[in-house]
Amino acid sequence: MKIGIVSVGQATPNMLIELQEGLPKIFPETTCSVIQEPLPLPDQAFDKKRNQFNSSAILDKIQVFVTKNKDYQRVLGVINIDIFASGLNYVFGEAYVSGQAALISLWRLKPEFYSETSNSPIFTLRAVKEAVHELGHTLGVRHCSKNFCVMHFSNSIFDTDKKQNLLCDQCYLQAALAISNLG
Ligand code: ZN
Ligand code: ZN
Repeated sequence: MKIGIVSVGQATPNMLIELQEGLPKIFPETTCSVIQEPLPLPDQAFDKKRNQFNSSAILDKIQVFVTKNKDYQRVLGVINIDIFASGLNYVFGEAYVSGQAALISLWRLKPEFYSETSNSPIFTLRAVKEAVHELGHTLGVRHCSKNFCVMHFSNSIFDTDKKQNLLCDQCYLQAALAISNLG
């Protein structure tokens, strides 16, 4: 699987490199490249009343980008603002099941958000878990009932911290099959 990793608006460049290194350790036959030019944050994604951005509106922009860029089979957008999805107060990320676009937000993954001291290994681990989770969805993997599996739904940061940075055997097989079918 060829993954492009891109900032949407201003994301932290170091995190893109951490993701580039981390993702091929989880997914078989996978290479990642950092796309240097950030995607612009779509103005219409901003919800004034909520003071948050609509993740689906941003995901649509990433999908348009990946459709035009034949170099990548999947594109992961990384954003450093608070995002929400319909029916949810906030989300850590979003992706279309079996789509090509995935998005994660770093906003609520930073220990500082929870008034804890900054800790880059914890921050990075959370970001890689959420990225694996969203990319897993693009490979057709749905939410897993096992709370240690990275495909378990994270309702809060506690869930993210509890799950491992790995797919359970069943989810892994499904992801690996989808990757081999990408050709
Ligand atoms: Zn999910
Ligand atoms: Zn699983």
